[in-house]
Parts: sequence; C-alpha cells; structure tokens
Amino acid sequence: MSREKLAVQQARKAFLTGGSKPLEYRIKQLKNLHRFITERATDITNALRKDLYKSENATQMFEILGLEGEINLAVSNLAEWAAPRPVNKTLLTISDDVYIQPEPLGVVLIIGAWNYPIAVTLQPLVGAIAAGNAAVVKPSEVSSHTAKVMELLPLYLDPEMYKVVTGGVPETQELLKQRFDHIFYTGNSTVGKLVMEAAARHLTPVTLELGGKSPCYIDKNCDIRIACRRITWGKYMNCGQTCIAPDYILCESSIQDKVINEIQKCIQEFYTKDPKSFADYGRIINQRHFKRIMALLEGSTVAIGGDSDESECYIAPTVLRDVASGSKVMQEEIFGPILPIITVNGLNEAIQFINEREKPLALYVFSSSSKVGRVMHYFQLLNGKQTIYIFSQVIKQMISETSSGALLANDCLVHFTISDLPFGGVGNSGTGRYHGKYGFDQLSHLRSCLIKKLNMEGVNQMRYPPHTTEKLRW
Ligand code: NAD
Repeated sequence: MSREKLAVQQARKAFLTGGSKPLEYRIKQLKNLHRFITERATDITNALRKDLYKSENATQMFEILGLEGEINLAVSNLAEWAAPRPVNKTLLTISDDVYIQPEPLGVVLIIGAWNYPIAVTLQPLVGAIAAGNAAVVKPSEVSSHTAKVMELLPLYLDPEMYKVVTGGVPETQELLKQRFDHIFYTGNSTVGKLVMEAAARHLTPVTLELGGKSPCYIDKNCDIRIACRRITWGKYMNCGQTCIAPDYILCESSIQDKVINEIQKCIQEFYTKDPKSFADYGRIINQRHFKRIMALLEGSTVAIGGDSDESECYIAPTVLRDVASGSKVMQEEIFGPILPIITVNGLNEAIQFINEREKPLALYVFSSSSKVGRVMHYFQLLNGKQTIYIFSQVIKQMISETSSGALLANDCLVHFTISDLPFGGVGNSGTGRYHGKYGFDQLSHLRSCLIKKLNMEGVNQMRYPPHTTEKLRW
C-alpha cells in the first residue's frame, strides 16, 4: 500500500472514532498548532529565508501574525460557530425545533502552494480542525525547506487524525486518487482543473484558491503619490509572488509618466538604490520561475529596473511602460516583480479591458473621494449608522460593472487580514472561500434539522390527502 493511501486510511479510521468532534479536542489541537508555530519559530524563519529569502520580520508580519489571529479567533468563537443555528419557522412548523447544525465533513485534503507556504497551508488547517475534521496536509515541494519543517507537525497535533504527506507531483497525484470528503487546494488554475477532475471521480467537493491577473486602475483624479506607494508595497512584497499582488496597472496616458516617477521613488525608499543587496527584498523561488518571468519581458519597454542575476534568482523591481494588451506579459499571471502599465482612455475602457478577461482574484481601484462625501461619512459614523457610503463615482462604477474575488478601493492586499471578509476567487480565480467563520463553514456540512413532536397531529390534517378546496382556503 502506498504511503499516501495509508495516510488517508489512518486519518479516516481516526475520524470514524468520533474523536475529532468534541469542542475541547478541537480547541486543544488548535492550541497545539499555535504551539508549533511558536516553538518552531526559528526553524520556520530559517526555512523561509532559504526558500524565498524572506526576512524574519516579513515572515512574522505576513505568514505568522495572520495565522495566529485565525487560530485565536477560532478558539474564542468555536462554541458559537459550532452551535445549532435557529432559523425562521413557518406556521406549520411553529412548534418544532428548526435549526442548522454544522457538522464535520470527514477527511479533508489540504494541498498548499509555495509563495506563503506556512499561511496558505496552515490557515485552511485551522478551518479543518475547528470544523471537527481529520486532515491530510500536503505542503508544496517547491518551498522544500518549509515543507521539511511541516513534517514536524505530528509532534504537536494528534498524529492519527492529522497527517502530513510531503512530496511532489507524483505524491499529490497518488493522494488525489484517494477518496476525501473535501479537497482544499491552493495554487495555479491549471492544476486546479486537475484537482477538480480528480475530485469529481468521488463527487468530492472542492475549495480552489487560485490566482490570475489582478488589475489596478488609477483614476487621474486621485492622489497619485499615495496610490503609487500602496501599489509599490503590494506589488514588490515577496518579490511579486503574492496571489493578490497587483498584476498590472491601467491608467490614462496623461498620468503614466507621473505614475512611473512615483513608483521609482517608492522603490528607492522601500528597497534602496540597490535592492539586490538589501536584506528585505526577496528572491524568485527557483530557476524555472526565474526563466519564466524573464521571458515575459520580451517585446516590452522597461521604464524601471529590468536587471537580474540568474545565479541568485534575483529580478529587480521592474516597471514596463506603454505595454500592448497582446504582449507576452499580458498572457499569464506574472507572479514576479514586473509591473506593466497599459494606457486606456478612461474608466469605461478600463472596465471593458477587465471584463474581456478572466474574473480576477482581486481588483484595485484608486480614486479620490469628494469632500461632501467625507462629511457625510463622519456624520454617519457619529450617528452609528451602518450605511455604506461610497463617495467616488469611479469606485461605485467599478464595483457595479465588474466582478472579482475582492475589490479594494485605494489600497492593496489588506483585505486578506480581515477574518470577517470571505477570502476566495470567482470563476477562473477560484471557488469557495475561507478565513474566520467562512473557513469553518466551508469545511462543515450545514445540516438542516427539524425536530417535531409526535403530538398535535390535528395541525397536519391540511397537508394529508384528499387535497380539498376547503383545506386550501384554510
Ligand atoms: P505549486 O507549484 O506549489 O503547486 C501547488 C500544489 O499543487 C503543490 O502542492 C504541488 O505539489 C501540487 N501540484 C503541482 N502540479 C501538480 C499536478 N500536475 N498534479 C497534482 N498536483 C500538482 O504552486 P503554484 O501553482 O506555482 O502556486 C502559485 C499559484 O498559486 C499562483 O497562481 C498564485 O496566484 C496561486 N495562489 C493562490 C492563493 C490564493 O489564496 N488564492 C494563494 C497562494 C498562491
């Protein structure tokens, strides 16, 4: 029997004992997961430095803090999330107990990606444990040092209930032959289709956290300096290897030079004049991706950066200007530190450009708000009203005329940190969602329950045949 098959069998056997269901057990496992990231902090930091040249602080900020937040939230809210959820009743069910009971699905397969290998592998595990499932975790083999650290997880979690299977494509394919109750995959859309195909053979539901090209529209009526600061941060963090990084900029040609100027200033401020020697600027994960990204430059005009060093997998923060929509860099998700600018004639053309392509994971729009709007907003805050008031017509139109996993106005990436927002894509950028209670619900079955008593039979007479007109009138 293969190692993969054995892992799934053992996890299923453990799940069938019912051991993962008590809330105290789930909380204990979540706390143990927290202990893993605390006690193994140095191993994790060293591994991420080797895999992606991430600095210790970047690892803390962008991998660990969010994961800790998710664990703490689940521990504090588990009793409420797992409790029966009463629903509105009808006249005929008024004396019944009618509610939704979240229940575990069974054995969940979690397949992680390499770019934030701790966060995208262990955050789904938080949802799986909280919802009372067993799990098989398959970290990405591409971030091999981090995968090695994750092999230590069974020292912390119940080793029968939670399995870690390391390996590459053959091992993942072997896992995908097995029967799971849910598959949670993070990675590219091409493999996402293979995962969905494999899942279909067992009618297994899937969550697919995929990627794509996330656009960034800069309205000319906007504080371009601030917009460029936030875009530069979102783009070059982790060397552009972020699923929700702005992939390209759309703006009018009249502001292109100013945009380039401002981004140039920010790159220097954030990463110095020599990013290659700067400890806080990352590297491309491997030579395969290095070559893929460098090939995307073909046929485009470099406005900033463009230099590279293959021996170190280094690519400078790069901006391309006047990029043609049919150019190579616009054919696939860049997933690297290259930022193309495509000029458009205003908002309507930008919206058309976005809508002609796959639905993105994130969409960013930068536009200034009117003063009247701001006053209204403060007034509403003072009154404690919940009305959402969107001041800018540009933002309003972008929301109503496009679709994406998430939309942010005047910022990038930060929605990932809000556990009350469902995180996930739409269409080609993914299916399903997680974070906070959404992760719990995604990996639970929301079971409909109706508990009736055997008395009060008279009330039921009207639904039994014969279906006379008198009964209908009643
Ligand atoms: P990857 O190469 O690590 O692949 C992801 C997982 O799929 C790995 O565990 C790998 O073993 C497995 N895999 C690869 N090829 C396979 C095959 N042929 N059959 C079965 N399994 C296979 O990661 P990647 O795909 O390069 O990750 C980058 C992509 O992930 C980008 O598109 C990015 O946008 C996306 N991403 C999305 C999110 C999100 O939350 N939506 C987060 C991170 C990354």
